[in-house]
Amino acid sequence: SAEGAPGAADEPDRVRDLIIIGSGPAGYTAAIYAARAELRPLVLEGALAAGGALMTTTEVENYPGFAEGIQGPELMDQMRAQAERFGAELITDDAVSVDLTGEIKKVTDAAGNSYAARTVILAMGSAYRKLGIEREDELSGKGVSWCATCDGFFFKDKDLVVVGGGDSAMEEATFLTRFAKSLTLVHRRDELRASKIMANRAKNDPKISFALNSAVKDLHGDASLDKVTLVDTVTGEERDLDAQGLFIAIGHDPRSELVKGQVHLDENGYVLVEGRTTRTNLPGVFAAGDLVDHSYQQAVTAAGSGCAAALDAERYLADLD
Ligand code: FAD
Repeated sequence: SAEGAPGAADEPDRVRDLIIIGSGPAGYTAAIYAARAELRPLVLEGALAAGGALMTTTEVENYPGFAEGIQGPELMDQMRAQAERFGAELITDDAVSVDLTGEIKKVTDAAGNSYAARTVILAMGSAYRKLGIEREDELSGKGVSWCATCDGFFFKDKDLVVVGGGDSAMEEATFLTRFAKSLTLVHRRDELRASKIMANRAKNDPKISFALNSAVKDLHGDASLDKVTLVDTVTGEERDLDAQGLFIAIGHDPRSELVKGQVHLDENGYVLVEGRTTRTNLPGVFAAGDLVDHSYQQAVTAAGSGCAAALDAERYLADLD
């Protein structure tokens, strides 16, 4: 029960069953499942961004169960409250160091408190790379987006710009042509990084035009985006382009710095898990959500893998007992 979850200060030396690091859909879903299995999980939510990536968005229209859509922060508040209702203990601070190699794992937060547990679920998510230009944050959700799957539907018959030269930019661009009136793909070099097959698909699409050797320099519009300024990266020449939507597809950085050197990562920094499970290379350490997943990166898939991580942790603990 909720009142049965003691504060950290009450029992500093207690070895818990489970610590969850991260508070997006993956972390909270893991917490809901683990709390209902009476594991009394401790969740380190992060100091700044409790609730994860969806706290920065407005309407979420593709999370099942909300026929009319739901605001991102409202969805995350609900997940948080649901985890708390079953007795998850929430601490709004960052995990700053971990020792995950032994049978008892240690996690230390930014306030200097250390916690011990037999299992840990890593759910720190990944950060979308930004262009780093003025008004990018201000216009996020008002024309500026990092996710075509999430937001493409809002841009029917609009002029769109996609930034990026890799496979994911090609995929986003090709997907967005089903909504777009026009689509310009902007890439800073004269050659795309994408695989031939993906690049050719985009090149053969009559709706897509290319602005190579170009970068987005300025964003314009009052309440929402209506125009971008492109700069030629070779000549420095500038031109304006009508655009109600700007999709930034220049990559993600999984937040795996904390566990580097202990947990195996792939070459892009995503945590590696065994097959369809959430098991990492370290016994008792599981990983879920966008920290692991470079191909789906949706709230519902992150929640799904958070559920799997809690079940994997539960089974691991049952085998120990
Ligand atoms: P995150 O949501 O990224 O959460 C990770 C959390 O871990 C963060 O709160 C972070 O602060 C915390 N954390 C990180 N490091 C530490 C640490 N050391 N200690 C403690 N905490 C830490 N998906 C959809 O399905 N539909 C949409 O409409 C949609 N719209 C989106 C709009 C935007 C603007 C963005 C950015 C994403 C959108 N997504 C959408 C994608 C979706 O938000 C992500 O796929 C999902 O949030 C991933 O969940 P996660 O739990 O893996 O990670």
